[in-house]
Amino acid sequence: MTGISADSARILGVFGGTFDPVHCGHVAVADALMRALPLSRIVFVPAARPPHRPAPSAGARDRLAMLRLALASDQRFVIDETEYEREGPSYMVDTLAILRAHHAQPLALILGMDAFVSLPAWHRWRRILGLAHVVIVSRPGLDGTLPAWVRPRLAGRAETLLTADSGRAFLFTASARPESATALREGLADGTAPASWLPDGVPDYIEAHGLYRRSSRNDES
Ligand code: ATP
Repeated sequence: MTGISADSARILGVFGGTFDPVHCGHVAVADALMRALPLSRIVFVPAARPPHRPAPSAGARDRLAMLRLALASDQRFVIDETEYEREGPSYMVDTLAILRAHHAQPLALILGMDAFVSLPAWHRWRRILGLAHVVIVSRPGLDGTLPAWVRPRLAGRAETLLTADSGRAFLFTASARPESATALREGLADGTAPASWLPDGVPDYIEAHGLYRRSSRNDES
């Protein structure tokens, strides 16, 4: 993940998450965004120690391994593991600053609507808007009304994001996916998880490592 990208005419997507576990909704949203927006690639950023939520159920290494399995066959997607190399909480603002230093193209932070509405609670969130655009992805069941602070930043067309380095917002409503990691964890614990929600290879990994059973616990954090 170092070096100036040759693809500076397009935007680098940044998709952060806990991925506890990664599900088909994550992959489908990333695929839809690649098709609809002027993105060169999407960098997935698994949070080693997510600061804004309860401790994940699966350990950081297991979540990373599942993400690798889910993305292995698609060269449009890469994984940035720098949050695993840093001490302390995994702040997105720090990751974006590192990506900013290594890439000449604009960055777009991809956030589901639930994550977007919590953005003002994130560490140095205004600095995040100085480092990247935000792409807000609708989620079923969540009201699409955007907070007033973001409205002056909204771009009507995705191409508008190319005219500035950061600070614009784009609302993406074309891919409403039902998957949620919370629902998956509950379903995996009681045997009712929809198999179609998990990318190839991930169910076998979960089974082999005994993850998300009622008795399993994350002993890495
Ligand atoms: P949890 O239920 O544990 O919060 P999650 O399904 O939201 O998990 P995360 O790893 O927390 O998964 O999500 C990473 C990012 O992906 C967040 O910005 C989240 O809003 C977004 N996201 C997750 N699932 C979807 C979905 N089905 N549609 C759109 N965005 C999604």
